[in-house]
Amino acid sequence: MGEVSAGVNARTPGRTTGFPDGAPVWQDAAPMSDLPPALARLPGRRLGRFGAALLGVALALGVVLAPGRAAATVPAGLVEIPSAFMGLLRLLPGLDLAFGLAAPCRAVGWPSFGRLENGVLAKSTPGLFVRSRDSWGTPEAVRALRRVAQEVETLYPGRGDLIVTDISRRRGGHLRPHRTHQNGQDVDLLLYRNKPGPSARSFDEIDVERLWALVTALRAPGTAELVLVDRGVQARLYAYARDVAGVPETELETLFEYPRQGKRARGEAKPFVRHARGHRTHLHVRFHSPEAIAASIGEDARRGYERIVHVAARGETLASVAAQYGTPVELLATENGLSLKARLRRGARLFVLRPLDPARVSRDTASENRGG
Ligand SMILES: [Zn+2]
Repeated sequence: MGEVSAGVNARTPGRTTGFPDGAPVWQDAAPMSDLPPALARLPGRRLGRFGAALLGVALALGVVLAPGRAAATVPAGLVEIPSAFMGLLRLLPGLDLAFGLAAPCRAVGWPSFGRLENGVLAKSTPGLFVRSRDSWGTPEAVRALRRVAQEVETLYPGRGDLIVTDISRRRGGHLRPHRTHQNGQDVDLLLYRNKPGPSARSFDEIDVERLWALVTALRAPGTAELVLVDRGVQARLYAYARDVAGVPETELETLFEYPRQGKRARGEAKPFVRHARGHRTHLHVRFHSPEAIAASIGEDARRGYERIVHVAARGETLASVAAQYGTPVELLATENGLSLKARLRRGARLFVLRPLDPARVSRDTASENRGG
């Protein structure tokens, strides 16, 4: 159950989320519940004797390593166990993979409609100041962010930190006031300032030299997908790149949207740095996160689904949408953090896990219903 034949993955255009292996789909509230993912991923019957022994070791280790904390929390409930357990797994590289119990980060869905599972919290490091508590990202995004800030700091030491205003919430999803920032890939960064003080508030205050170094670092292969910033900021970067850094015209064209106005022709590659309104005082960077995205898509495919987004039309219900795609209504509800009785607003966006093989889903559902 839950296995997908080879070749199915190739058909999966969307992105995804994770569900505990083998759990009946309608019980799968894990991604939306407050249960630590590790606990949700450890159904008792699959844990077995060996797993239980490991859990015991982890618990003991938790007590040894953190006596004060463990004394208070362990008797209080099981909730702390998974974190000790996952801690152990991380201490012993390879063990997690061997038992398939690791919790890989998943960038679920899309930046504009998605969520984050098992993301990491960005912390201030040399050259980087993390100002927001909503600074959870994919490990790839957080690593790259740290690296580019360090590179600029090395080139221009002591001129001030790169300031992170927002990445994503711990579990992703909507983060006010952003339209994106939902799956741990998007990072907002204030502009380096050319005099003392935290960040440039006008074009004249921009430290173009450092900002250009940052853009250069972000362009390194596998680092960032795109940068959004106002044309006015681009104009300064463009002039610096052309006149000081000596970047040839042809390369400038693939790099900046500036100075061209209007849309590029269909099929024409989009530049790396693009204009966006409301980005006069900060950069919006989308970091490459291929592993977190693949983990998400892979998990959907392994369970036999592909992820798409459905926009609710007038009069639609959870049941009618589920029927339309041949997906269990319980799965549709849990995927979207809704109760079965929830009403759909027109225009509401829903994650739909569409079965790759409808016959298999109905078989699985039937066997779950029989208690098998
Ligand atoms: Zn942003």
